[in-house]
Amino acid sequence: MQTPWGFPDFDAHEALHLIHDEATGLRAIIAVHSTHLGPAAGGTRFWHYADDADALTDALRLSRGMSFKNAMAGLPLGGGKAVILAPEDRKKTPEQLAAFGLAIDRLGGQYVTAEDVGMSVNDMIEIARKTRFVAGLPVAGGAVGGDPGPHTSLGVFLGIKAAVRRALGKDSVAGLHIALQGAGSVASGVAMHAAAEGAKLTIADVDASRAQALATQVGGKVVDPAEILALDADLVSPCALGAILTEQSIAALNAPIVAGGANNQLATLQDGEAIHARGILYAPDYVINAGGIINVSTEFVHDGDASLVRQRIEAIPGRLEQIWADSVASGRNPAAVADAMALALIGR
Ligand code: NAD
Repeated sequence: MQTPWGFPDFDAHEALHLIHDEATGLRAIIAVHSTHLGPAAGGTRFWHYADDADALTDALRLSRGMSFKNAMAGLPLGGGKAVILAPEDRKKTPEQLAAFGLAIDRLGGQYVTAEDVGMSVNDMIEIARKTRFVAGLPVAGGAVGGDPGPHTSLGVFLGIKAAVRRALGKDSVAGLHIALQGAGSVASGVAMHAAAEGAKLTIADVDASRAQALATQVGGKVVDPAEILALDADLVSPCALGAILTEQSIAALNAPIVAGGANNQLATLQDGEAIHARGILYAPDYVINAGGIINVSTEFVHDGDASLVRQRIEAIPGRLEQIWADSVASGRNPAAVADAMALALIGR
C-alpha cells in the first residue's frame, strides 16, 4: 500500500516523535497511532535494535497494535507505543529515564506509558518523577497498578482455555502438551497457570538459563529455541517477540492451536490467512494479550478496583469466541476478523 512516508509500516499514525537527549544519550521513539478513543496508551520497549529502521518499524507496528488492542478491550484509550534504543551494553540510567519522562510530559497527555519488554516497575517509578502520564506503578493494599505482566498472563491463559474448548472440546488443559516460546514475565505466568491445571510444558528461551529455571519451577522440559514452534503439541503459545509466524514457521507448525501473549505474532497479514488455511485455530494476539493494558487502563483512568480488572480480563475469552464464530460464519481468518472489528471501533 502507498503511504505518505517511505516507511512501509506507516498507517496514518497521528504523530511520530523522535527523541534525542544529548546530555544523557537517550534515543527513543514515541509513536502515536490513534487518539480516537482516548490518550494513546501502550508500553515502552527497551531493546537493542540492529539499526534505527528496525526500531522505527517496531514503534509503528506496536503502536498500531495498541490502538487495536485497546479498542477491542473496550478501553477509553487510543494506541501508542514507545521504544528506547538500548546501547550495545544494554545499560539504562535513571538520568535517561528522567529525560524520557520529560519527553512524555511535553506531549501533554497525548501518550501514556507503562512497562513492555525490558522495562520494569522501577523504571516506571523513575519516569513518574517527571510525568504523570505513566502507569504500571507500584501500589499497596489491593489498589490497581503494578506490573501488568501477571494480568497479561491471566488473560492469555483464559484465552488458551477458550481455544482448547473450541478446538479440542476440552474444559481444562490437564494432560495437554503446551509448547511455550519465551520464559519471561508473560510466559512464566502462563506456565504457572497451565501447570497448576495439569498441562505438560515444553519451554524455549534464547536465554537458556531462564528457560531452565522456569522448566524446573513448573516441572517442564526445555528445548532449543529453533525447535519450539514446530513441536508436536496440543498448543503453541508464543510469548516472546513478534513476527515469529512466517510462511516457513506456519508450514512447520505441528499443533492445532496457536494462542500466546507476544505482540505482532504474524509477520504479515497473509500469515493470518496461511495459518487459517492450515486449519489451525489462531487467537489474535492483541485480543488475547489485553490483560496487562486492562490493568494499566483501570489504574490510569481510575475507573475501577481489582475485582473489576479481573472481570474485564475474564471478558477476553468471550471476545475471542465472537471472533472465531464470525470467522466460521464469514470464512475470513480470525486475524482479519479482529482487524475489521478494531478498525470500525477506532473509526477508520
Ligand atoms: P520479557 O522481556 O519478560 O520476556 C521475553 C522473553 O523472551 C525473554 O526471556 C527473552 O529472552 C525471550 N526471547 C526473545 N527472543 C526469543 C526467541 N526468539 N525465542 C525464545 N525466547 C525469546 O517480556 P514479556 O513482558 O514477557 O513480554 C513477552 C511478549 O509479550 C512481548 O511480545 C510483549 O510485547 C508481549 N506483551 C507483554 C505484556 C506485558 O504485560 N508484559 C502485555 C502484552 C503483550
